[in-house]
Amino acid sequence: MIGCPAFAIYMWFTLTHLDGSLVELVALPGAVHKGPVSPKGNVPVYKANGVLAYFTTLALFVLGWQLEVFSPARVYDLFGEILSGLNMFSLLFCLFLYFKGKYAPSSSDSGSTGSLVYDYYWGMELYPRIGRHFDLKTWTNCRMGMMGWGVLVLCYAVKQRELYGYLTNSMAVSVLLMHLYIFKFFLWETGYWGTMDIAHDRAGYYLCWGCLNWVPAIYTSPALYLVENPIQWSLPAAVAIGVAGTLAIYINYDSDRQRQVFRATNGKALVWGKPPQMIAAKYSTGDGKQKTSLLLASGWWGLARHFHYLPEILAAFFWTLPAGLTHPLPYFYVFFLTLLLTDRAFRDDVRCSSKYGAYWQHYTKAVPYKMIPYIF
Ligand code: NDP
Repeated sequence: MIGCPAFAIYMWFTLTHLDGSLVELVALPGAVHKGPVSPKGNVPVYKANGVLAYFTTLALFVLGWQLEVFSPARVYDLFGEILSGLNMFSLLFCLFLYFKGKYAPSSSDSGSTGSLVYDYYWGMELYPRIGRHFDLKTWTNCRMGMMGWGVLVLCYAVKQRELYGYLTNSMAVSVLLMHLYIFKFFLWETGYWGTMDIAHDRAGYYLCWGCLNWVPAIYTSPALYLVENPIQWSLPAAVAIGVAGTLAIYINYDSDRQRQVFRATNGKALVWGKPPQMIAAKYSTGDGKQKTSLLLASGWWGLARHFHYLPEILAAFFWTLPAGLTHPLPYFYVFFLTLLLTDRAFRDDVRCSSKYGAYWQHYTKAVPYKMIPYIF
């Protein structure tokens, strides 16, 4: 049940964070970035200020904490209430998205399936916006979901330090690895605007509820567990986990970057020091126009069609490993992520196969493995 004080806390948390995100998204400067051509032939334009927003959030967090504007440790104490509030907010927010898509869509990439339930679940619009700059999917996925993840694990670290008077190296390694991952996300945010979440999945319950609730609740869980389970590793073990996690995050980043640079340079940039192997895949947009996309078939993208999911899963494993191997609970995210990304590999193949037809078949012959070279 949501009591009034809890709801007030939720409002405090959401509004302070939301206000920061809103201001950051709209007011912070950033280069103009054009997203990929949409199914209806539109080209969404974004403001690329993710890294600046990330450091602004960190600075505001430290400032707010040190000036005692808010207590990070209280966020841990009231996290159940905060989640209840987030749930209520996002259910209403998805209703807003439904009505906005129905009566005031931002672009022609919108429309109903004829089922109210499915429209609420899947969403009506691909790129809902308020005004020119306030992109609602960037706000839910990047600035609330990803940024909220970063803020919450910092709150948990502060809580552990308040509880025991020191920070364990397990918490430090876990939070540092998660922050490295979150930083790399914002470094690559322009690439994220070209992924399935943005270019394919509509703004509805499936995507937005997940980013507003599931990400803060589940993705943060290894650090949440460590608050009251303080584990101290030997220095070599802590360093080894940190190095392995950093390597996994780097490989994941580099494969995303490789695809992004390959597309941005029309296949002209070298891949692992050599001209890339590629397939020029033709397809038609919804308005009947003929377009061509380049598919990279070398580098990380030549090992398997979704090889980058493997280091993504390993990175999650390494920021969970500091919690030890005695309890399965902190590993829920790793387990969930493995299912999510395996399903995503199938979903993406189906989408690309229907988009590129024979060209995709040609690509699957050149790169036969889905995720793990020689195995799957
Ligand atoms: P991808 O980077 O896998 O991009 C998929 C799209 O890229 C395809 O739909 C297709 O789009 C294009 N594409 C496919 N094959 C090629 C190729 N060979 N060469 C060039 N372009 C190609 O998107 P994801 O969103 O799945 O992943 C992005 C990142 O986000 C990854 O690092 C992933 O690990 C991470 N991620 C993390 C999640 C989490 O919850 N932690 C969840 C999901 C992803 P087009 O129509 O443009 O051809």
